[in-house]
Amino acid sequence: MQMSGNIVDNLVDTAENSGSIMAIWDSFQEDFRQLFPEDIYHTWFENLKPIRELGDSLTLMAPNEFAAIWIRDNYKSTIERRIASRTGRIISIAFDFICEAKERENPSSAPTAMPALRKQRAKAVQKCDGNALINPAYTFDNFVIGSGNQLAQATCVAVANNPGQSYNPLFLYGATGLGKTHLLQAVAHEAWKKRSRLKIVYTSTEKFTNEFIKSVQENRVAKFRESYRKVDMLLIDDVHFLTGKERIQEEFFYTFNELFESQRQICLCSDRPASEIARLESRLVSRFQWGFIADIQAPDLETRIAILQQKASAMHLELPEEVIHLLAKSVSTNIRRLEGALNRIAGYTALKNRPIGSGEARELLQDIFMDETRCTIRIDQIQRHVAEYYHITLADLLGKKRPANIVFPRQVAMYLSRLLTAHSLQRIGSEFGGRDHATVIHACKSVECAIEQDPEAKRAVEAIQESLK
Ligand code: ADP
Ligand code: MG
Repeated sequence: MQMSGNIVDNLVDTAENSGSIMAIWDSFQEDFRQLFPEDIYHTWFENLKPIRELGDSLTLMAPNEFAAIWIRDNYKSTIERRIASRTGRIISIAFDFICEAKERENPSSAPTAMPALRKQRAKAVQKCDGNALINPAYTFDNFVIGSGNQLAQATCVAVANNPGQSYNPLFLYGATGLGKTHLLQAVAHEAWKKRSRLKIVYTSTEKFTNEFIKSVQENRVAKFRESYRKVDMLLIDDVHFLTGKERIQEEFFYTFNELFESQRQICLCSDRPASEIARLESRLVSRFQWGFIADIQAPDLETRIAILQQKASAMHLELPEEVIHLLAKSVSTNIRRLEGALNRIAGYTALKNRPIGSGEARELLQDIFMDETRCTIRIDQIQRHVAEYYHITLADLLGKKRPANIVFPRQVAMYLSRLLTAHSLQRIGSEFGGRDHATVIHACKSVECAIEQDPEAKRAVEAIQESLK
């Protein structure tokens, strides 16, 4: 995130430019007012102002640093999506904030306090820009075991206790947010705890790549190689990033061989099995499959509840049972998303100074729940449900006919695809008989209009949405 921290004295006035987001910012404010509970809107959104718009990037200014970080962590993607669905533009948002000196002269109503959370955030930010890649919280103790991750966890413990012995290389794979990085770093923590003299390196594939490129530019490739090839344990995260990078794959291949031949431990993580990483050299695919392969599956309901309880207790957050159940039931595919929901509740609880109720939580987390739905609903399901609701055939829904009793359901299906999946406008258009993105934008606008003006249309869209749950 770009967060300069400077006071932006001369606000660039592009608001009058036609087609700019800045010019229609008030209407987004109206959206946010509708989308969020009143106090959330008042605390985070009311004083959020666009100050710069350059091409596809928009800078929003928050009243203080804490608010900027909080909004970035909790609402950035919601804001970006809202803009995309209303304008069809994919905008990337950065945040700026009024620095404290200025703030003293001109105090704002957004909170600068909430000391515990402020401290927690500040720590998180520091972690990102130092070289402390390892998160001290990613230990085995903090890892909740369930049926989806049991095997991966047990193998990681074995590797930490006996590096380079039975499971070499260890290859972990699973969808994003399911704990791969946590486990990989837990191996590092545990192995260090047991043998502090071991030379352990944890890195991401991206970092490995960047370091290699830099070493080439600065003429010190030999040093780069040495730094990786003399380690006792190499933990490399996100190896799916090797896709298509031939030169890095070659470099990685030699590092791998050298370590493997001298029985040093290699642990790798990926979001898919090695054989499914596109354009990965076959000699690497086969090496990644030499040792032990463990996959991580999404956690079941009990594991999600246990994770929530553990995290709430670590945050000293009082969470009513019904709220835990609401969260665990509504977010099932990604533990990072579950944590995001929990953090937001922590902010709300601190603000209100009392535990949150499930009705409030439902309202507060609408967009997070929506993100979750996006991961689970497919366009073809939406098309089927819409066709059934309006009693038309799927062929008509996707075809070229244009009578109103077909056109409107078709637009509803496009609108719901935009709302409930993460697919691009182009992709949605192509799933509707090869239509273009402008048709999808037009459909979304027509349906939004109909929902506002016609209670019957509103009921229909809500009923279809309900049936998709
Ligand atoms: P991945 O690398 O698979 O995308 P991470 O390891 O970054 O996922 O996990 C996402 C978040 O979820 C992290 O904050 C991690 O601590 C947490 N997490 C994942 N699995 C568990 C678990 N079983 N118990 C506790 N926390 C977990
Ligand atoms: Mg990860």
